Amino acid sequence: MNDLYQEIFKEIKKIPVIDTHEHLPSKEENLNQGRDILNEYLSHYMSSDLISAGLSNDSLNKIKDSSIPILKRWEIVDPYWKFCRYTGYGRALDISVNKIYNVDSINRNTIEILNEKFKEKNRPGHFKYVLKDLCKIKLSILDTWDSRFDCDQDLFRRVWQILNYIIPMPLEIPEEGLDIVSWLENEYDISINSLDDWMHAFNIELVDNLNHGIIGIKNILGYFRPLQFNKVDYNTAKNKFASDLRKWKEIDRKEGKNIRFSKDVQDFMMHYILKVINKKKLFMQVHTGLLEGNGDIITNSNPALMCNLFNDYPDVKFDIFHIGYPYYAETSALGKMFPNAFIDMCWAHIISPAASVQALSDFIDAVPFNKISAFGGDYLFVDAIYGHLHIARRNVSKVLSQKVKENVFTVEKAIEIAWHLFYYNPVKIFDLEEKINN
Ligand SMILES: [Zn+2]
Repeated sequence: MNDLYQEIFKEIKKIPVIDTHEHLPSKEENLNQGRDILNEYLSHYMSSDLISAGLSNDSLNKIKDSSIPILKRWEIVDPYWKFCRYTGYGRALDISVNKIYNVDSINRNTIEILNEKFKEKNRPGHFKYVLKDLCKIKLSILDTWDSRFDCDQDLFRRVWQILNYIIPMPLEIPEEGLDIVSWLENEYDISINSLDDWMHAFNIELVDNLNHGIIGIKNILGYFRPLQFNKVDYNTAKNKFASDLRKWKEIDRKEGKNIRFSKDVQDFMMHYILKVINKKKLFMQVHTGLLEGNGDIITNSNPALMCNLFNDYPDVKFDIFHIGYPYYAETSALGKMFPNAFIDMCWAHIISPAASVQALSDFIDAVPFNKISAFGGDYLFVDAIYGHLHIARRNVSKVLSQKVKENVFTVEKAIEIAWHLFYYNPVKIFDLEEKINN
């Protein structure tokens, strides 16, 4: 690598980071005991690449079973791991173990000693060591499920998922016989018999979340349906809601199933939710692009499907996740066209390091640079966030040094832009100024 790149990379490593998106436990003490390096590192991402490479689901389950000796499990995964080692997911893990455990890579010769080191190091304080000491992360925005509101305030702030108001899911912590409708009725002492009641429930739960420190909204609808939400008039939605509710009470509820809303109700509710949060000027982080796991409908999550929402709700800051990969050209156009559409590179640098470099180069050329956030780890476990951030810092350095070489701006300006991408922009977009402990 050339001197210009090295110079910029050295400066970028000093910049504090706002990590726009993580799925860590809300507190370190909530971590499951009895974890080992394979079941933790294969909780997502690398596991999807391994399946894509040909590993069976049965074998994956065996590999994650810590009652089996680790070397035996490695023998099963080794023939597939060697094909995945050089993807962004594979690289992030090797970079992480190198830094955290001083072991050059995860392989047959190192897996046993690595597992011992992993168990020894994963004690209270490890989150802080990785996130603060190694990564220089000031604050991470957390989307997690282990509790409703609280989190370690030194490390995190939380967002709230609104999925249940559009496509109700089984409860995270299922209380006996409770579906989401009954849970809401019990929790807030309300009854839900109409669309108005449903909208009222949303309002109450939103206020409850905001009063408990939640800073914004998370939308993962792209995993379940297309992100195109049409306008539906109130009376149509009201009638459809009534018949959905009746059908559920007569049939599905008796089998312990959640209510399922017809598309008109789903569309109406998304617009209603946006109307409410538009008034409150909240931000909405939106999952777009690649869907974690294997086998899904990628076109559902194209961010360009949301143009009508960007237009209709100008005071909602839409944070477009994962650069919409593979639709990052669309994401670039959206960031350029809409003052309320922001580009978030969370997850992107490990989905494809090369695509992230191309995309960021395009963003810098096409989009005002105050619209772009450079990093969100998007991990369920803490170690790999270091490797991901390392790749992100290298990618940003590559793009900025290339622009300097092309005389677009000076080195000083490149470093100033990097400060915006990693720090100033997310502080501003997510209104974190007062929440950062200096
Ligand atoms: Zn995520």
